[in-house]
Amino acid sequence: MNQFSNLPKPKFGSACNGCGYCCTVEPCMLAKQFLHCETGPCVALEASEGKAICGLVRNPLGYLFKAAHPEADVPVLDAAPNIEEGYDLSVKLAAALGVGQGCDSADDEDSAAWPELIPARVCE
Ligand code: SF4
Ligand code: SF4
Repeated sequence: MNQFSNLPKPKFGSACNGCGYCCTVEPCMLAKQFLHCETGPCVALEASEGKAICGLVRNPLGYLFKAAHPEADVPVLDAAPNIEEGYDLSVKLAAALGVGQGCDSADDEDSAAWPELIPARVCE
């Protein structure tokens, strides 16, 4: 079992249920570009109430600062700072990720086995 949810992955195009499969096996382009994360599970993948959530959307300023200053002691899992720019960034990142537009992860053998933990893949 994985650490983010016990939910199976819904079919491609169905409503996202926060199963966490996609971000566990392969970080998205935003994670690669801004968080320097090349291998799943994504460093910004968080669990909340039995679902996987995107920490980069929840607390973008925290994760971006941490990525720029890896040596800094940044409590990224804390509440996001109450800053307007942070909210604006969350909205933009959620839009870029297609949040609310359904599951965009392909249906294959690995996804069918989820939520069993599967080996992470390195992004090309
Ligand atoms: S996009 Fe799909 S695989 Fe990713 S968390 Fe949502 S339902 Fe799961
Ligand atoms: S940045 Fe967010 S959406 Fe992208 S892989 Fe990480 S947790 Fe998933």
